[in-house]
Amino acid sequence: CGIVGYVGRNTKTTGDHGALDVVLEGLRRLEYRGYDSAGVAVLTDSGVEARKKSGKLVNLVNEIAESPLAESLTGIGHTRWATHGGPTDQNAHPHLADGGRLALIHNGIIENFAEIKQTLVAKGYEFLSETDTEVSAVLLGDIYRGEGAGDLTVSMQLASQKLEGAFTLLAVHEDHPGVVVASRRNSPLVVGLGDNENFLGSDVSGFIDFTRRAVELGQDQIVTITPENHVITDFFGNPAEGREFSVDWDA
Ligand code: GLU
Repeated sequence: CGIVGYVGRNTKTTGDHGALDVVLEGLRRLEYRGYDSAGVAVLTDSGVEARKKSGKLVNLVNEIAESPLAESLTGIGHTRWATHGGPTDQNAHPHLADGGRLALIHNGIIENFAEIKQTLVAKGYEFLSETDTEVSAVLLGDIYRGEGAGDLTVSMQLASQKLEGAFTLLAVHEDHPGVVVASRRNSPLVVGLGDNENFLGSDVSGFIDFTRRAVELGQDQIVTITPENHVITDFFGNPAEGREFSVDWDA
């Protein structure tokens, strides 16, 4: 339902807070859309750390207070409106794959998840949730280990080619600190441009407190953000461009 992503260096934004607070602030701004669960994943020195909880954002915040996350400058956050699988902790996003090294969040519906799941189960993968989303996480992890050859952007392109329906996907992998890769089809995605930091949001509310410079992605596009750059392609790796604009309303 609501999606936020962040990569930075030790900037003014993260100086006091780190990626976690930037992501939680974005999720607060997106609460107006409605949701039943929330979750975050951050990349720390020890790899991917994720927390997720059904119910309001405060439940997630309490969970993190009880079980704190290490410092991070890369993070993703999600508020879920359940479509496949009830609103449980287990079905909340992020969903992990590649042995817990990869975390993925998703807005929308993967229409062909059942047939992809069958193929993955036949390959020996096990699933922990009833969601369509976990199928895209496991697929991305499988491609990353296979034909994607450890390239997260290429793997996201290949996975997106196979997925039908509506999706905004964000993924982080512990092999790639300081990188968030995102994809969109029939579902919105906006990049927020900062100084030595970049943001992603399902809409500009996800980063409005931090920057007003934004780039809206077009249909069937992928974006890879690092603190310094954002690179947009289509699902086949061809260079593409988004629409740059400046947010002129007061939040
Ligand atoms: N279809 C996904 C699920 O049920 C994502 C729903 C959403 O957009 O929040 O988990």
